[in-house]
Amino acid sequence: MTDIMTPQQRHRCMSRIRSRNTKPELKVRQWLWQHGYRYRLCVKGVPGKPDIVMRKYRTAIFVNGCFWHGHDVETQNFADPQIINSECCKIPQTNREFWVNKIRRNQERDQQNYQILQENGWQVIVLWECQLKASLLEDTMRQVEVALQDNYLRTFSHKAKTYILVDEENLPMAAEDNIEYN
Ligand SMILES: [Zn+2]
Repeated sequence: MTDIMTPQQRHRCMSRIRSRNTKPELKVRQWLWQHGYRYRLCVKGVPGKPDIVMRKYRTAIFVNGCFWHGHDVETQNFADPQIINSECCKIPQTNREFWVNKIRRNQERDQQNYQILQENGWQVIVLWECQLKASLLEDTMRQVEVALQDNYLRTFSHKAKTYILVDEENLPMAAEDNIEYN
């Protein structure tokens, strides 16, 4: 059998598959699937390489590892060596500059991806690994669910009605006879 990939290509391909099946992303996929949501993993024509694509909701989901994507870490200000590090992203002291630069590039690429998607009419949901640990998973995913429903309504916004909520206490007394409260 002939090998049609160069070692470099093969490496890139394998690491792409590995990164698609990281544990935090699996948790999100499992939750969505169990709650009846359907998604795609690799969709042509959707820019920005999101981890999970939910076309019906016009939503792209990214599941970010806290270290590699620099959760809560301000890498733009490297002039001050004190600042960098957060609860879930601790940059090693050794080769610190190397790591900071690497994480900064990842953050910049993330922002570009989110922007491209939004410019193309996609809603973007970014989830962090630390929000998906067992004690937080359900809460986090419930918030995702709310965002998805909201995004879904937005896809129909051109048809949306305006509902005016009436403060019940301020209803005129006489009107009560004519209104049926259910
Ligand atoms: Zn985090």
